Amino acid sequence: MKPRVFILGLDGADDSSVGVALQKGKMPNLQRLIRNTLVPLRSTPLPITPAAWTSAYTGYNPGKTGVLTFQRRVPNTYRGRIVNSADVGDSGFHTRLAAAGKAVVSVGFPMMSPPPEVAGAVIVSGWDARPSAPLTNNARATSIIESMGYRIDDEFSSDAGILDSGIVTRFSIIRELMKDADWDCAMLYLGFIDGLGHRLGFGNPLTQTLLERTDAELGALAATLPDNTAFIVCSDHGFGSFERSFSVTQWLEEKGYLVLRSQSFKNSASGGIPGVEFMDLSDGVIDWSKTRAFCWDAVGRHAAIALNTRGQYPAGIVDPREAFALAGTIINELRATTDAGKSIVTDAQRREQLFWGPYTSEFPEIFLETAPDITAYIAKRRRTDDGFEIEPGIVHAGAFNSHQDDGLWGSSFTIEGSGLRIEDLATTVYALLDVEIPPDADGINRSPSKTVVGAGASPYSAEEEAIVRKRLEDLGYL
Ligand SMILES: [Zn+2]
Repeated sequence: MKPRVFILGLDGADDSSVGVALQKGKMPNLQRLIRNTLVPLRSTPLPITPAAWTSAYTGYNPGKTGVLTFQRRVPNTYRGRIVNSADVGDSGFHTRLAAAGKAVVSVGFPMMSPPPEVAGAVIVSGWDARPSAPLTNNARATSIIESMGYRIDDEFSSDAGILDSGIVTRFSIIRELMKDADWDCAMLYLGFIDGLGHRLGFGNPLTQTLLERTDAELGALAATLPDNTAFIVCSDHGFGSFERSFSVTQWLEEKGYLVLRSQSFKNSASGGIPGVEFMDLSDGVIDWSKTRAFCWDAVGRHAAIALNTRGQYPAGIVDPREAFALAGTIINELRATTDAGKSIVTDAQRREQLFWGPYTSEFPEIFLETAPDITAYIAKRRRTDDGFEIEPGIVHAGAFNSHQDDGLWGSSFTIEGSGLRIEDLATTVYALLDVEIPPDADGINRSPSKTVVGAGASPYSAEEEAIVRKRLEDLGYL
């Protein structure tokens, strides 16, 4: 019987949501499927949905995908463009499995719009779907989602009834698509844990109620899974609450690296990504002619600081020859920053310490990590009548909800090794389905399946190996 994989993607799930439900015995079907394999899964260095899922699909760190946040920098501007499936490109496992003759069905995942036109992969886009793009790449799938009333806006709701029926609809759609195809890899995404965490706050009871619904649906689906189906549940990052926040813009201002033109800024007319107007060259709040470093993005305990380098940004003032030293100075100052005698920033690193690959040079130069009870903000701000104003001060107290680094992984098979990373999803799926793992993958196969992974056989002949061994022995290494 051929091997198959079913993946349940739960955005933002971790020990505090799914772990609690399992512990209370509220997810017996999931418990049966994953036995005792529930372990933390480390997200990307900025633990943010598009970056993490892109790394999960490709097996690559963001330096090889270019997807670091919701936006990718537009060269020689201070703006970003929203990422989409084109940024995953041909290197996602959907495409590569299909190219290897495997049938894929995928429902609701982010970074899947426009749905890739891949023969052999039936894809239904998720909540980040491009408004003008079709929701599926397949006529039959389109008729199924229309007849079942699939609505991507379910994921933005906090209404128990809407969310509940959205879960049921999504399970019905994947079951229907699985009936249609002799599938090899089927995958279903649910976003309510992350969405409700942001809207209702950490530990909200509705999440637990909906996890029970998810488990009931999962039980019905599991009964239809053929033997020899490997089951994986995973998330892209975790979710948590924080007692304090660290505002990177205010810190940079206090240290003299950044100058603000104004303390207030208007809300986005289009309701777009916060921060865009904030960064705008002509209308934004930053005085670029006097700014050497600025915060590009912040999530959970992480923030990225870019240098306003001449030649890279339209109003860049940092001499490219001085950029390396300036980054070093800022890193040292970040590490030395304290509040009431305690460290705020527990680590700060150059981008090259976290990423490798052709897109690394697009990324901000510095990445910082805050103390466990602190979340990072681009700039803490508060609403005014016609927009926002920046709150004075660097550290603010309160109750903040944001992402955590560790999501979760559970599977019907035992995990090999420890320290799972989000990139391991793609490589494990390849191995389970007996498809060659791309030699440049950063993830590794975590299943007991022994599919050859890139560095398999020795490139040396037996004679060559003997000569090299002798050399190493003479040097005292062997
Ligand atoms: Zn997410």
